[in-house]
Amino acid sequence: DLASMASIATELKYTPVDSIPAIASGVRNAFNSHKTKPIAFRLTQLRKLYWGIKDNEAAIVQACKEDLGKSVFETYLSEIDWCTNDIVFVTQNLQKWMKDEKAPDIPLANKLLSPKIRKDPLGAILIIGTYNFPVNLCLTPLVGAIAAGCTAVLKPSESAPSVAKILQHIVETSIDASCYTVVQGAVPETTALLEEKWDKIFYTGSANVAKIIAKKAAETLTPMTLELGGRNPAIVTKNANVRLAAKRLLWGKTLNAGQVCISQNYIMVDKEVLDPFIAEMKLALKQFYPNGAKESDDFGRIVHGKQWSRLKQMLESTRGRIVMGGDMDESQRYMGPTVIIVDSPSDPLVAEESFGPLIPILPVEDLDTAIRIAGEVHRTPLGLYPFGNKQETDRMMTETQSGGVSVNDALFHGSLSTLPFGGVGDSGHGAYRGKSSFDCFSHRRSVTSTPGWMEGLLDVRYPPYEGKLAKF
Ligand code: NAD
Repeated sequence: DLASMASIATELKYTPVDSIPAIASGVRNAFNSHKTKPIAFRLTQLRKLYWGIKDNEAAIVQACKEDLGKSVFETYLSEIDWCTNDIVFVTQNLQKWMKDEKAPDIPLANKLLSPKIRKDPLGAILIIGTYNFPVNLCLTPLVGAIAAGCTAVLKPSESAPSVAKILQHIVETSIDASCYTVVQGAVPETTALLEEKWDKIFYTGSANVAKIIAKKAAETLTPMTLELGGRNPAIVTKNANVRLAAKRLLWGKTLNAGQVCISQNYIMVDKEVLDPFIAEMKLALKQFYPNGAKESDDFGRIVHGKQWSRLKQMLESTRGRIVMGGDMDESQRYMGPTVIIVDSPSDPLVAEESFGPLIPILPVEDLDTAIRIAGEVHRTPLGLYPFGNKQETDRMMTETQSGGVSVNDALFHGSLSTLPFGGVGDSGHGAYRGKSSFDCFSHRRSVTSTPGWMEGLLDVRYPPYEGKLAKF
């Protein structure tokens, strides 16, 4: 694997570490020049970014193919159109979001102070992306930063080097170079970036790295948005539509070869419907890939050899029984969609995030057991996928916590521009997408303006206080 890492390093030109302080002060100076604040500037940048993405569609498709074996359809669905749709939504609504908000329900006396909330940009932002949706997870936060009037440095994941290069090309050729720039690299470059003072760090990736980032951010009291992983449960009761549940949950683990932070990590299925559920999953797999997943252009590959080996080891360490798939090929970094029946929540496939096409199924006695186990495995996952009747799915939501929920589906809550996307507890904090992206990089700044003529009304506040309490 060292050989493949070395070839990545030679393909992708890393930013010299000693140039990073100047890059950071460059975007800080650009912010201090106030040029990013007018709405006209923000809209122009967003529209230029839109066309930067559009003009490079073919290169993005090619890069996603190289890095992740991603199909053309998925690249449009989850990378290109995802970003351009978000830009359209944000540009259409930006003026409304930027408007000052009047303080609601205020007594008449306070109205004279014209209390309001301004939406001020936070400043210079550091965005650190990850590899699984390498375009989307860098550019969607950047859209929010631009919309809010911030400047930004983007650090794409070095694990998706072809995409990292095309992102740099898009940023450098389409938007204002003094305000938005890309730093390429891995740990040393990111570490150097973290030595600088930012007004917000937006990080997507694993919890372990998030802890390193949070410690650095604590030194300078820098706010963060953390978009982390999750050991997300799906729960299928005996009252669920088993066919739909199997098909949708298979999709949740075959999209991007299961390298999706909001994929279900494990499925708890009521014992009564276990056999039909597995039969339906096998049927759905045949429908998705009639000639097998390996032969299909629609099924992706694991990002690099290290992740592939990690998945293989997970599969070797399970005490469970493989009932579907299990096929793999290291030379292609291929791992087939694999269903494993496990017997305990402590099985590594349940207890750890697989981030690949492994689909452990834990048979359960009833819904009470499933809810209890979900809470024990991970109290605050990124997603929850309840399948059952309305009463059951409502109960699952009431009695658990998670960043988001797709009722009777996989992944879906994460796909809408109109919903905030984010975790809770240790699956992350802060949220973005659409309006939430604008909010993520804005400061809600409370303002009052006291007219001089009010002095007569207000001088009751000054000492000496004697006799004044009675006047209130
Ligand atoms: P990764 O290897 O791409 O790392 C993520 C980023 O962290 C990269 O830019 C990398 O350069 C940087 N990094 C790595 N080590 C570092 C260090 N020691 N110091 C500073 N920076 C460092 O990907 P990963 O972390 O393995 O990402 C996979 C994880 O991301 C999974 O847990 C997944 O669930 C999660 N994820 C979350 C979301 C979300 O929106 N919540 C989305 C996608 C992925």
